[in-house]
Order: sequence, then structure tokens, then C-alpha cells
Amino acid sequence: MGLMSDIQSEVAKTRPTSVCRVRRAMSTMTKDEQADLEAALADKTIPATIINKVLISRGFELDRKAEHVQAHRRGACDCAR
Ligand SMILES: [Zn+2]
Repeated sequence: MGLMSDIQSEVAKTRPTSVCRVRRAMSTMTKDEQADLEAALADKTIPATIINKVLISRGFELDRKAEHVQAHRRGACDCAR
């Protein structure tokens, strides 16, 4: 990892709500996990709270209220910018 990416990741930690935690979690997943998560996000019959709960149980850093998952699904997170 380059110095700049280290600095950017430290900056991101100081602004927890400005960085989409779904994207951050996804960046550490395997390709299979990413595909499963994208399929789950696209399936509107699966509640965001369930996806959030499973991600937390697997050790990903998400808030308990599933706000990042909901924002990511709506396209309201910083991924869309
Ligand atoms: Zn996002």
C-alpha cells in the first residue's frame, strides 16, 4: 500500500459517515462474497437490516442501524458521487 492510500484511509476513519461502509467492506471481500452481496442488495425481498446483521457477524464494520446498507441501496451514499 502506498503512502497516499494509507493517509486517505486514516482520513476516512475520521469521517465515518462520509465513506460508504458497504463499499469499504466490499473492498476487503473475495469476488464470490462481493457477487453474493451485490445479489442480496439487488434483491428487494431481503431487508437491509438482515444484510447488515450478516455483515457485522462476519466482522465487517457497519453501524447497527443498517444506515449504510440502506443508503448504498438507494444510491444515496458516496459511491454514487
Ligand atoms: Zn455505497
